[in-house]
Amino acid sequence: MLIVNGTIITFDKENQIISDGAILIAGEHIADLGSTAELTAKYPDEEILDAQGKLAMPGLICAHTHFYGAFARGMAIPGAAPQNFPEILEKLWWRLDKALFWQDIRYSALVCLIDAIRHGATTLIDHHASPSAIEGSLDIIAQAVEEAGVRACLCYEVTDRDGEEKAREGIGENERFIKRTKGELGGTQGNLLGATFGLHASLTLSDETLEEAVAVANELGAGFHIHVAEDMADQRDSLKKSGLRVVERLNEFGVLGRQTIAAHCVHVDAYEMDILRDTGTRVVHNPRSNMNNAVGVADVPGMLKIGIDVGLGNDGFSNNMFTEMHVAYLLHKLNKGDPRVMGGDQVMRMAFQNNAQIASLFFTEPLGQLSVGAMADVILVDYKPTTPLTEGNCPWHVIFGVDGTGVDTTIVGGRVLMRDRELLTLDEEEICAKSRELAEKVWQRV
Ligand SMILES: [Zn+2]
Repeated sequence: MLIVNGTIITFDKENQIISDGAILIAGEHIADLGSTAELTAKYPDEEILDAQGKLAMPGLICAHTHFYGAFARGMAIPGAAPQNFPEILEKLWWRLDKALFWQDIRYSALVCLIDAIRHGATTLIDHHASPSAIEGSLDIIAQAVEEAGVRACLCYEVTDRDGEEKAREGIGENERFIKRTKGELGGTQGNLLGATFGLHASLTLSDETLEEAVAVANELGAGFHIHVAEDMADQRDSLKKSGLRVVERLNEFGVLGRQTIAAHCVHVDAYEMDILRDTGTRVVHNPRSNMNNAVGVADVPGMLKIGIDVGLGNDGFSNNMFTEMHVAYLLHKLNKGDPRVMGGDQVMRMAFQNNAQIASLFFTEPLGQLSVGAMADVILVDYKPTTPLTEGNCPWHVIFGVDGTGVDTTIVGGRVLMRDRELLTLDEEEICAKSRELAEKVWQRV
């Protein structure tokens, strides 16, 4: 397939803009890039997909999300409104996740996948919880992911909050699914699924559970996906339990490292940041969620400055990763009282290069860039620049002009999942109707 007449933004190291550009897709990969004139002459027999002047960009990566949170949209929380983050966990999330059964897990994933395709998010790193339906839950999500045709890395959140037995079951589910994606349990996995080992957060994990989880993950050669110091409550708990701050405690147990994703890191001090950097741990920033939960502002500019490659996630917010970029750009300026903080180029680095590095832990082929040999994960976005668009100012066009609602075509591994805003792999009507029906029952159980 030959995509022609696009304004290509490559988002690779050189980050070139090719106006009136073309992309040759052969199988799952990008086989050639160049001008439309050059490539149509070179490949006259290719099937043509006309971008009609739209932006052609790599599919977006979301480095931390929760499909299971989909049914929280519009849900009334019983009793008085939660006053702080521990209350949000207890009154909302820990009631919602217990109310999820098999069909709910499937449909909450499917509605998020529709949202992702619609907004051009082609790779998602999910963190799942369903204490009433643990074993096999990741297979249910995996099936939805394969039906949708996007890429996702899955894990199950191990926690002691529901007792020892559920914690053991959670460890078992991670172990089973990691083995499955490695092909050890048979079956073909293709390139759409990845796996890591999920842990909730230091504040709901005992020493014994951490030890056991680390032993199992080490045996499998896996890293972790965990919430770190999202709220001060996590620090208070860790100091009480161990006399150590969260990052120190997790490091003592061997949770950190190059394969580990530490979501949030809102309340980490300079010493903890050094540990995160020295261990090569991947920090993922989720500004909309942090603002919504009023937990504080992560010192992302400080982390980037000392050499932590911070990525960007949505923590279960909409899969419009452009909005997450816009918010990341604004939040740190206001927080520091300095408009020079967090330039558009830094936001792009988080959303594209850093997220691509994180995704490369789970997917072997290059993602998140338009270059020869990279996976053909391409989106076309309707955007007509009203000022000159150049390599240098491109981040500010993305911040001030481009949005996920303008995504018109989504392609993953050469397969077209949405064309002219029409979904080709999922039945949106059926999925949304069923989702509304199931969500209502979940709300009643909550
Ligand atoms: Zn989260």
